[in-house]
Amino acid sequence: MTLNKLRLAGVLLLTVLSNWAVVAEVSKGANALPIFDAHIHYSHDVWDAISPGDAIQRLREVGIKRAMVSSSSDEGTQRLYQADPSFVVPSLRPYRKRGTIESWMYDETIIPYLKERLEKYRYAAIGELHIDGEQAYTPVMQEVIRLAKKYQLVLHVHSDAQAIKFIFEQYPEAQILWAHAGFDYAFVVGKMMDKYPNLMADLSFRGEIINEGRLMKAWRILLTRHADRFLTGIDTYEPQRWLQIKNAMRWQRDLLSVLPKDVARKIAYENSERITRLFDARNNLETE
Ligand SMILES: [Zn+2]
Repeated sequence: MTLNKLRLAGVLLLTVLSNWAVVAEVSKGANALPIFDAHIHYSHDVWDAISPGDAIQRLREVGIKRAMVSSSSDEGTQRLYQADPSFVVPSLRPYRKRGTIESWMYDETIIPYLKERLEKYRYAAIGELHIDGEQAYTPVMQEVIRLAKKYQLVLHVHSDAQAIKFIFEQYPEAQILWAHAGFDYAFVVGKMMDKYPNLMADLSFRGEIINEGRLMKAWRILLTRHADRFLTGIDTYEPQRWLQIKNAMRWQRDLLSVLPKDVARKIAYENSERITRLFDARNNLETE
């Protein structure tokens, strides 16, 4: 090997090593990023097994610094909030118990329940609530939308794209966090976000968009293009899920590690400001 070739090989080796170093630094950075989890539930069948202090500790252990919490009934959210008001951002669910996600929008007794809670406690959002298509126009859902408007609350909505359109028809200034990004395709979510500047989405249960460390191209483009609209979320929708927090966080960290650093930082935490801004402002007013 000539001296020049040796030099070239040396340069190549250095380049490869420094690229590795960059990759290592990016993933180490992603592992250290503080997380806002937009999708935590602490429902009645979890309280007895996992105390509020224990629940918060489990979430903190995986790097979550703050979380939006809702529960069936709202009692769980309030218990968790009491345990650590700086950690919990409360969201009011229209469910008093498990098993009403398909019928709640026809139950008019939900409205006095919501009104009573809204009078008594402070929230950042209403939801997570489940709705599809024209159910967005049931009298109960119309009233929920009016309450969101009156109390300036984000709507955390698990629905198809149609229901999101129908909510914006009724309340064009709505701030909507679309749970699981509607379980929809990147191009649909992208079109919806282009059309509605106040539409955000959480990525809970969307592990399929990343496979063996490779993020689907359409999602890479979408998450970069609308980097200020997405949040992460574990979704502790049933008691068992509390035992899977580390696994759920692992794929989210994988996702963050393959995104550009500034995009990862936004999705991991910074975008939560859009959800907590009014809630924090109201709380600060109170303590001043
Ligand atoms: Zn959920």
